[in-house]
Amino acid sequence: MNSAWLLTAPWLLTEAWQLVPHGAVLVHGATIAASGPAAAVRQAAGREAVHLDLDDCLLMPGLVNAHCHLELSALGHLCPARPTAFIPWVTKLIAAKKKLAAADYQAAVAAGQEMLLAAGTTTVGDFCSLGLAASHHLVRPRLRQVRFLEVIGRQAEAEAAVCGELAAALERLAAAPGGLVRPGIAPHAPYTVSLARQRRLLGLARQLNMPYAIHLGESPAEKEYFLTGRGPVSDQLYPLVGWEGLAPEEKGRDSIDLLLSRNLLGEAIVVHLGTATTTQLQRLATAGCRPVVCPRSNHNLGNPLPDVPALLAAGLQPALGTDSLASTGSLSLWDEMRFLADRFPSLAAADLLRLATTNGAATLGLDRQLGRLTSGLAADLIAVRTTSRRPPTPEKLLAATGNREIALVMVAGDIKKRPQ
Ligand SMILES: [Zn+2]
Repeated sequence: MNSAWLLTAPWLLTEAWQLVPHGAVLVHGATIAASGPAAAVRQAAGREAVHLDLDDCLLMPGLVNAHCHLELSALGHLCPARPTAFIPWVTKLIAAKKKLAAADYQAAVAAGQEMLLAAGTTTVGDFCSLGLAASHHLVRPRLRQVRFLEVIGRQAEAEAAVCGELAAALERLAAAPGGLVRPGIAPHAPYTVSLARQRRLLGLARQLNMPYAIHLGESPAEKEYFLTGRGPVSDQLYPLVGWEGLAPEEKGRDSIDLLLSRNLLGEAIVVHLGTATTTQLQRLATAGCRPVVCPRSNHNLGNPLPDVPALLAAGLQPALGTDSLASTGSLSLWDEMRFLADRFPSLAAADLLRLATTNGAATLGLDRQLGRLTSGLAADLIAVRTTSRRPPTPEKLLAATGNREIALVMVAGDIKKRPQ
């Protein structure tokens, strides 16, 4: 395997939106050794570097999909064609998951990885059901991942079994070769994990210095359950999982206020936030939370969209995720960015590109390694074909980029997709 590359292109985007004409990136092993104007970078390249001239491309950082469920990539048939009701969709998802065998999940994870790479994503924050972690582990990682081990459960009596399973999964991940996968911990959601278990998981994540994530403020049904103890969570979801009549541990505050008041978020990665009010967004910012928004999934499941301009105004730095193929039509962050641009015309295209690069890296705790093409960072990059000889703009890049335009994908110095 080659270990030194000199990549040159008419345009280099070191980060959104820092454009260098006639740019180059020099890669040594898994790391960027130099980047900038081609004339200067060429001088730093030794004879051993293989030169790849991407003559109609823009070189830029690989995208970071901060929230996905690769294991659900086989359940695309559950993705609604029109906005649907959330909890009935969840019940269908639970039933469909029970029918899948370990081999189906492994095939789904492998296929999902290829879809991410094809769309120019080089890092994913992937929620992996704790019960599936052993089979997930058998799939060779093809891109960088923070694998959030996802825990569900409100029953205190199962605590020892869950702790044992989690410890075994973390041990497996720690021993995994290759360095592409890092572990994270994720209670699924406030209505499926007891407050006591959330506290233990948050403590464990802090102790082990791992990222901690939770779905939060996704649906009006979640809000209604915490405010009143009633609604689809209690009437439709709980009977299906044997939790009939299980009341919220505290009634009268919604899930966001409840978790904030119990200090259960800290610097947590909070996924969705469609139901969050402006005041809650400010409190989440003060707490140091790191939001991930998945607006297409919210739309398809009949849930409110996160108010991204309000998130930014509150001082939060949201990252972007697609969620799974069971609730969205593709795992492409380009599609996700275009959807946001359409729904929130006040958002600048360059800001959307930041959501999908630097913000994603920071959210996953990887900003010292990823998100920009500068010396010393990981060689995770993509080349995007541009049709015009004029300088690319963020708007044009966003409008024109699909999988066909992704000419090259490199993860940790390894080429995963080559120019045709
Ligand atoms: Zn999710």
